[in-house]
Amino acid sequence: MEGAPEHSCIPPISQKNAEWKGHPHPHTRARTRPKGIDGGAGKESQKGGWLVYVITSGMVFAKMKSRIVALVVLDAALVVLAAWMGVCPLGAQSAAPPSADATGRAPGQGMLDRLQAMMAGGKSAWTPEQLAVMERLRGAAMKDPYALDELRHLTYNIGPRLSGSPQAAKAVEYVAGEMRALGAEVTLEKAKVPHWVRGEEKAELVSWPGQAAGTTQKVVLTALGGSVATPPGGITAEVLVVDDWDQLHALPPGAVTGKILVFNHKFDKELAAVGNGLNAYGGGVVYRGAGPIAGGAVGAAAVLVRSVGGADYRIPHTGQTAYAPGVPKVPAGAVSAEDADMLKVLTSQGPVTMHLTLTPETLPDADSFNVIADWKGTEHPEDVVIVSGHLDSWDLGTGAIDDGAGVVVSMQAIHLLKELGIHPKRTVRFIAWMSEEEGSQGAAAYMAEHKDEAAHHIGAIETDLGADHPSGIYFAGKEALGGWLRPVSTVLEAIGAETLTSSPETGEDIAGLTELGVPSFAPVQDSRFYFNYHHTAADTFDKVDPKHLNENAAVVTVLAYALADSAEQAPR
Ligand SMILES: [Zn+2]
Repeated sequence: MEGAPEHSCIPPISQKNAEWKGHPHPHTRARTRPKGIDGGAGKESQKGGWLVYVITSGMVFAKMKSRIVALVVLDAALVVLAAWMGVCPLGAQSAAPPSADATGRAPGQGMLDRLQAMMAGGKSAWTPEQLAVMERLRGAAMKDPYALDELRHLTYNIGPRLSGSPQAAKAVEYVAGEMRALGAEVTLEKAKVPHWVRGEEKAELVSWPGQAAGTTQKVVLTALGGSVATPPGGITAEVLVVDDWDQLHALPPGAVTGKILVFNHKFDKELAAVGNGLNAYGGGVVYRGAGPIAGGAVGAAAVLVRSVGGADYRIPHTGQTAYAPGVPKVPAGAVSAEDADMLKVLTSQGPVTMHLTLTPETLPDADSFNVIADWKGTEHPEDVVIVSGHLDSWDLGTGAIDDGAGVVVSMQAIHLLKELGIHPKRTVRFIAWMSEEEGSQGAAAYMAEHKDEAAHHIGAIETDLGADHPSGIYFAGKEALGGWLRPVSTVLEAIGAETLTSSPETGEDIAGLTELGVPSFAPVQDSRFYFNYHHTAADTFDKVDPKHLNENAAVVTVLAYALADSAEQAPR
């Protein structure tokens, strides 16, 4: 863990990973590799009578999902309340993003290095014939249009797939049908999921310094997932802007009461530009997740956050927020970065008043499903390797990069096994998860249904960081996985996807399996541009480069086959 003192009140973001370079231990900067999220990643310490968690995984905040949020949120609520009472110095550790540490290709880790390591390091888990099968799968994935065709249908024909929506239900039916058509054994496993609908969302300034008489000024925003509504006619209140937790804490008691509180934490574009998009996201997402609780705790009328993303086209980014028991629920939205800048400037000049209308509704939980499709193993059908993405999406765009792409590259794995007539020893299990965005209720249902089967889960793959070029594979579990996978990375070198990177987390939906010791994996995707579109109206089909999508399909298909057909199971 870097730069996070023991007394830290606000969970810091640590460097995401240590890159695995064929050494016994990660030899990048000193850092810990926390195990798990809510159970293991929190480091408890006592401060002023308040239990404070120091979170050590960057992925934790980067992913910002319910189990995580629940922890963050409860912590944040305590922190805010404590701070207000002068117990704990709020912002003792701000959520400043870490220094850049690109996770690209390992310098000096060429083919020769790995061959030498292989010769020194023992036998491969795959025969030359199996490696040749991997090369065939890789080649087919780079040519076959199936993944792109499926993504086009999911996004253009079905559209956004918000949890609980008719489109999400249609997508379940569609994907299940496609998997049946391939000859896979399909099961729909039930999950109760949130059913939140967006409603109207608009805001305008009604008074500000320098205002021309009789005018208002539009503010571009969107409601955060799970937000409660304003009254139908909206609220009118003074705007108060803070850049971070420190500035909130520095305000005198009562300063926030009745106001629209804006968290103006800037997305670190430079960090994203050098390939650390996930860390840049992690630096801001804490405000989206916990900001409404922090504001609600001190009497804000509503809370707005600066959008957590890098786009420059005055476009707001939605995403799930959360409330905490005992803290008033206040309407919550995200303003575009440009509007956050404007609010910052105008409020520094004098009083600014906003009229804000958000009318989302939280309907009763809906019945939905994870789509599960098994390509049965020939020798050990009871042993499964999961290849997956999440089928739900936000509603502003059409969920192409988040996470239609993850679903279709996983569908492609089954499709290519069929096309090439390949039947591995173990079962390859495709899963399209439901409701990842609003709390991973689908994953929770799967864990409940399969809780006694961890030993039969040989590996789990999830793709949920878009569809840009993959430079290799993240793995979570034993360090030995890095060496074990080396022959696979050699196959993937032809498409520039040969790195092997140790990570505490690989995907939110498979995090429960990771915690149970199931070796877990994800493609290492180029994250420089992902957060420009993520959770916005611009997450659409055209953002996916067909070649890059195929590369991702190649990575997950080759890896799924490798895990399902290896001589021995992956180390765990
Ligand atoms: Zn996602």
